[in-house]
Amino acid sequence: MDRLWAPWRGVYVSDAGAAAGCFLCAAAAGQDDQLVVAHDATTVTMLNRYPYNTGHLMVAPIDHVPDLLAAGDGGAAALMVAARRAMRALQDAMNPEGFNVGVNHGSAAGASIEHVHLHVVPRWGGDTNYMPVIGRTKVLPELLEATAARLRTAFAALT
Ligand SMILES: [Zn+2]
Repeated sequence: MDRLWAPWRGVYVSDAGAAAGCFLCAAAAGQDDQLVVAHDATTVTMLNRYPYNTGHLMVAPIDHVPDLLAAGDGGAAALMVAARRAMRALQDAMNPEGFNVGVNHGSAAGASIEHVHLHVVPRWGGDTNYMPVIGRTKVLPELLEATAARLRTAFAALT
């Protein structure tokens, strides 16, 4: 059996690609998928458990890749394709007036986990007034589950 010597892969790949304690890996593997609303061959899309706004989605590669640079051109493109689908599903389900779409790269920029993810946050006029308030409020799981159900329906209806 041939073996490629690729020690850098060990940083990202362990236990068949899932990093212990990484909630995005767990979601991608179907181990903790209550908030997952969509997935494809290379990405998973889930509700943020601590949302900035109702419908706040996170789009991540299935592989435990630390950031956009490590994801490569293909991985980054796949994330953007999935993010666009997430925007369409949110548009259909919640009719937002705008979106914030972005990535925190590095701890200095606010990245808190080593599994790259793209935030897709639906916005409505005036929501900044209460966003800091709801951002600190514990969101009931039932509410997130209801939002997840709405979004799964919207994703399923996308062409
Ligand atoms: Zn991970």
